Amino acid sequence: MAAITTAEIRNIALVGHAGAGKTTLAEHLLHAAGVIGKPGAVEKGDTVSDFEAEEKEHHHSLTAALLQFAHAGRRINLIDTPGYPDFIGSAITALPAVEVAMIVVDGARGVQSVTRRMAKLAEERKLPTMFIINKMDAAEADLPGVLAALQETFGARCVPMNLPTGGGAGVVDCIAEDSGEADFSTVAEAHTAIVDQIVEVDEALMEAYLETGQAPAPEERRNAFRQALRESHLSPVAFVSARTGAGVAELLAVIDEFCPSPLEGNPRPFANDGEPLEPTPDPAQPLIAHVFKVSTDPFVGKLAYFRIHQGTLTHNSQIFRNDEKKALRIGHISSTLGKEHTEADAVVAGDIGAVAKVDDLHLNDVLHDDHELDTLRFSAIPLPRPMFGLALTPTSRGDEAKLGAAVAKLMDEDPTFVVERVAATHQTVARAIGELHMRVMLEKLQSRFHVEVETETPKVPYKETITGKAEGHHRHKKQTGGAGQFGEVFLRVEPLPQDHETGFEFEDATFGGSVPKQFLPAIEKGIRQALERGVIAGYPFAGVKVSVYDGKHHPVDSKEVAFITAGKRAFMDAVSKAKPALLEPFVEMEITAPADNMGDLSADLSGKRGRIQGSDMLPGGMCVVRAIVPLSEVRNYSSQLKSITGGQGAYTMDYSHDEPCPASVQAEVVAAYKPKEEED
Ligand code: GDP
Repeated sequence: MAAITTAEIRNIALVGHAGAGKTTLAEHLLHAAGVIGKPGAVEKGDTVSDFEAEEKEHHHSLTAALLQFAHAGRRINLIDTPGYPDFIGSAITALPAVEVAMIVVDGARGVQSVTRRMAKLAEERKLPTMFIINKMDAAEADLPGVLAALQETFGARCVPMNLPTGGGAGVVDCIAEDSGEADFSTVAEAHTAIVDQIVEVDEALMEAYLETGQAPAPEERRNAFRQALRESHLSPVAFVSARTGAGVAELLAVIDEFCPSPLEGNPRPFANDGEPLEPTPDPAQPLIAHVFKVSTDPFVGKLAYFRIHQGTLTHNSQIFRNDEKKALRIGHISSTLGKEHTEADAVVAGDIGAVAKVDDLHLNDVLHDDHELDTLRFSAIPLPRPMFGLALTPTSRGDEAKLGAAVAKLMDEDPTFVVERVAATHQTVARAIGELHMRVMLEKLQSRFHVEVETETPKVPYKETITGKAEGHHRHKKQTGGAGQFGEVFLRVEPLPQDHETGFEFEDATFGGSVPKQFLPAIEKGIRQALERGVIAGYPFAGVKVSVYDGKHHPVDSKEVAFITAGKRAFMDAVSKAKPALLEPFVEMEITAPADNMGDLSADLSGKRGRIQGSDMLPGGMCVVRAIVPLSEVRNYSSQLKSITGGQGAYTMDYSHDEPCPASVQAEVVAAYKPKEEED
């Protein structure tokens, strides 16, 4: 292949709600470009994008797929992203690699939650957007209705650049043409709307237009169109049928002609030592590349995908990763078409490439070849926090280490999947965005790493504390044959209400040597053991001040171990009289759903002991509800929300604070607790 120049490159992400037709469209774009003979189908599991075993099985894109191909003198890098809200992380991380987000919208379902989310993220990042209304062949499609919904939701910048004709059999270009028939509206009307919108980015053009009433000449019009798209003053709307291929060749031509090249793209948020740094998309400059995807391929091993923002990366070269002083050797680099990799000698500024078998590379790494750039960082788009949790236990005992290594690899690929050890509940808890995400990750655990796990709903990480003051006492005396054990402790406990997270104060209030000083650390140690194991229900205990005020010792039988036990037991005695309480975690939730569901959502949350903090209407018939809810009630919220909203809702959840449980909940949790027999 002839060397690629930066000006020839077009980087596009296909984003949008699941089922809108992104993968089918990608397939037909490849077909229209002559890359593949016959387009595959999602139902058959034979598309170029969905090549992972789990994707074929679920008939859904689960990760972003890179499709790099040549067309009409251009190098097109298309990233087909997942649209299921559970897998939105890989759509979000693909955005920094492209110059345009093409938001694919289902011609029947219209604006959906992921449509809105991706449009908002693109806007925040000043990433130009186009809307592609798909399924214009479908009987149930409502094309004028969906166009109107886009305009209502995203504003006047959404102007159709073409319109369907012949009952969805083709499209008519409304930039070039100013009259003609269309299935709805008219070419003249769409043409005028485009001209009205694009002249606003060029004062001279605007003046001439207002004076003469004449649309700018074709070339001027095209230039103004490009500029308006680049400046996000225009989000053109194009119609296609990914199933029949109608409008797809025209869309490919739009990519070739109107989408910005990396030379014209908007700067990415790099900062060097805190100062914004704008890379120059020049192949001759020092290298700046950003890793936007990491995957593990069963054949190739670990793959890191990077976008070059400045300079050139050649194969068999040495580069630096972030602030590491040691150079990283890059062997082969490749160009990607789904699961196919073709070796490349070099990747220039603006282009995308992949390197295999570099285990040290991670998402959002900055790659460079100049120590001056050691402090260069990329500010990534925040990803949704995984809140759907399951506790995992390996089916075979002894697989703990294998499980640990496997989840580390999965977490490296997917930052929205987190596995951690929860000390409060002694469980290994995996968190994913939703139920489907969790299911897919557990499937990968089994199929790729051969680790089988049993799952259960994670225990709620309650905390224990006291709400009153009390005194406690324990006399530990043991006589077993030879030397005995003796220690006696009197202590007081009182709450530290502001510090129930970790708070613990220990005071020595003894006098007259009733307890020799060398045994006080043993008493404290005993109390700390109780704090860790819990007193009433087996959860960590905190928010308490303990004062040891008296005790007794024996010159021969008093040993450290005796005072550890006496301290622990005296503390437990005091706690039982000091109105012990169980604190439960509350989460802050933000739920987006169709406005019609607002009443049901609020009623459901109130039934879960939630407190509604506020609600707002959003454009496009949606609403947002904010509430503070006990975590124990919403551990399966994704399926509950799905049933209330018919799959149209989305939510975020974050830890808020702890509160004492209602007495009935506390009684239930305490009753379920079976303390382990202590050895002493
Ligand atoms: P994605 O989730 O956005 O990648 O969507 P897919 O490409 O997986 O398509 C979802 C479903 O819509 C599949 O059953 C496709 O066959 C179907 N589909 C995609 N494009 C069209 C289209 O243009 N017309 C019709 N009628 N169906 C389509």
